[in-house]
Amino acid sequence: MVSMKAISDLGELGGKTVLLRADLNVPMKNGEITDDGRIRAALKTLNILIKANARIVVISHLGRPGGKVSNEFSLAPVALRLQELLAHKVQFVDSTIGEQAEKARTELEPGDVLLLENLRFNEAETSKNTDTRLEFAKELAKGAHAFVSDGFGVVHRQQASVTEIPTLLPSVAGELVAEEISVLSRLTENPETPYVVILGGSKVSDKLKVIDNLLEKADTILIGGGMLFTFLAAKGIDIASSLCENDQIETVDSYLKKAERLGVKIILPRDVVVAEKFSEDAKHTVVDVENISKTAFGAKAMGLDIGPKTSAEFSEIIKTAKTVFWNGPMGVFEFDAFSKGTKGLAAALSETSAFTVVGGGDSAAAIRILGFNDNEFSHISTGGGASLEYLEGNVLPGIEVLQ
Ligand code: ADP
Ligand code: MG
Repeated sequence: MVSMKAISDLGELGGKTVLLRADLNVPMKNGEITDDGRIRAALKTLNILIKANARIVVISHLGRPGGKVSNEFSLAPVALRLQELLAHKVQFVDSTIGEQAEKARTELEPGDVLLLENLRFNEAETSKNTDTRLEFAKELAKGAHAFVSDGFGVVHRQQASVTEIPTLLPSVAGELVAEEISVLSRLTENPETPYVVILGGSKVSDKLKVIDNLLEKADTILIGGGMLFTFLAAKGIDIASSLCENDQIETVDSYLKKAERLGVKIILPRDVVVAEKFSEDAKHTVVDVENISKTAFGAKAMGLDIGPKTSAEFSEIIKTAKTVFWNGPMGVFEFDAFSKGTKGLAAALSETSAFTVVGGGDSAAAIRILGFNDNEFSHISTGGGASLEYLEGNVLPGIEVLQ
């Protein structure tokens, strides 16, 4: 069990300067924030620190500016949205370390919030060299009394603001990090059974370690998305032009055998939606998996979603579960014609009283785009990479350093 200190363990914070690593890495298009979910996820911790009358310095990254200053990746629009959502003044300074940032920091009054510019404008943040990262971390930590680590999306990274600052200051987990870890540990340590895991998405190779690790914990694993075709191929089914990772067939086959040995059910779709080509308006039809190569589309046929029989079967299985973890869309949900499988599954999750967790960037986006509310699920993880690494059984360096 992971044990980390919490903000309350820092004692009296009134007037103290607290450095907060948040993950405000929101998607942007033409300078506009397209989904402010990550800003919202940071509010809980911020409100606690404001209430405690701390002087709050917030640090975050945005995108991958590659160590260079660039307008496109400025956190300035994020500061404005944060201020709106917090309903509390947020100051912004367009530097991260150095004179200007230091001046802004020293002028903070108790309860004030200051957001510094994108950490990744400085290449030291993500440097492979520990000393380089440590030097940068020392600059960031200047004048701070404590550090709160709340950027869950980056806790699997070895980066100055994630792993080096905690070596310099009394450091604790923020509310978001604490909640994410508590949810994820509920999925890996004695989950309430029946425990159903649903895996989809595009590539099986991205999820191999997760499958391997969860095979030891789950009762049933439902497979959908692009990865299902590699599983079908492993069973000798002709999948025509569907996505297939030939070099993974052997591994997938070994999972099917391991599941059998462990008494875990891996359930593959009975039917799929196949299309003539990969496009929004492609001709398409529903077939049983044995007939994927036998449609009018011939060898061009590609499976882009799970079929209605599969959808119904998966929903029935979900009804019996006490714990459900879902990662990876069931089909190409970005195209309306191939979004039904994902939508059906999201509906099944939203209707059960089981503990339901959705992880993965595209999966979280999918349920929102398809019209579901966050509160219809027990938890939607904000960190795709970090949550998957945790479920792979890896130690997350940004968490380890807080223990
Ligand atoms: P997450 O980000 O939730 O972990 P992934 O990144 O693994 O999910 O996968 C998401 C992508 O998988 C989506 O863009 C979706 O279009 C794609 N996908 C799902 N099913 C298929 C399929 N049958 N063929 C091709 N791509 C698919
Ligand atoms: Mg993804």
